Amino acid sequence: MKSEEDYYGDQVRRKNRSLFKGLRFLPPGTTVESGEKGRVQGSLRVQSGQPGAEKLSTIAVKGFQGTSLLDFPGRVASLIFTGGCNLTCPFCHNPGLVLDPGAFPDFPVNELLADLKKRQSFIDGVVISGGEPTLDTGLPAFLRQLKELGLQVKLDTNGLLPEVIHRLLDEQLLDYLAVDIKTTPDRYGELHTRPVSSAPLLRTIELVKAAAIETEFRTTCVPQLVGEDELRLIGELLRGAPLWVLQQFLPEHSLVVEWQELSAYPPGQLERLGQVAEGYVERVLLRGL
Ligand code: SF4
Repeated sequence: MKSEEDYYGDQVRRKNRSLFKGLRFLPPGTTVESGEKGRVQGSLRVQSGQPGAEKLSTIAVKGFQGTSLLDFPGRVASLIFTGGCNLTCPFCHNPGLVLDPGAFPDFPVNELLADLKKRQSFIDGVVISGGEPTLDTGLPAFLRQLKELGLQVKLDTNGLLPEVIHRLLDEQLLDYLAVDIKTTPDRYGELHTRPVSSAPLLRTIELVKAAAIETEFRTTCVPQLVGEDELRLIGELLRGAPLWVLQQFLPEHSLVVEWQELSAYPPGQLERLGQVAEGYVERVLLRGL
């Protein structure tokens, strides 16, 4: 079992080293949850209605980060964030995007695509995160446009809309699929204000295990939601999968204010969970230690 940094950090840093000269690299493990607060940045902001701002896709892009070395394993990538979610996880790091996506103006998609085209020489792909991207009906058309630019696509999803994931896989629009498994399926009701059926998640797990692309399951180890018992039950569902990433819980910025006061597992305990997880999948990585 190795930390993610051991696997990918040097590889990506070597790549395009000159491009990043003078930029500050984030310390290993600072990316814990893809919807991390503060990751939604206005590095490209073009006002709607500006000449040339014709919309090519209906996807509602709420945030954009031009370059990331941490979010697409082994690749340099741009990050795109969509708004809205079908969960309200108490530990979510992006409550603004989840609870009030309308507060974030949409990025004009044609301008975004033009920016990505300019970056083609030094990015390998694009990470689509959120919020929950599969809720956006414009997602497939947008991904087709990314593929036309020759960019690889990584999708971060909570896996509750398997029919969308199936379609994207079927159309070969994904190169990497990362699916969150937040706790055992019977506890998903604790992640929302309404009942949550676990059946779609189970269907997604099977899709991921059968997918012919790079995949990862990932679990943020929130002590209130994931202990050794839960990890073993999840492990049975993931058995045989190529990669399971266990992420450290960062309480600050949690959607539910009371959860901001909770404690994360000490590193040794997270490593112990990693050892448990190793009994179920081909490879386990620890993220955020
Ligand atoms: S699935 Fe949970 S953690 Fe992810 S964006 Fe939605 S509410 Fe936040």
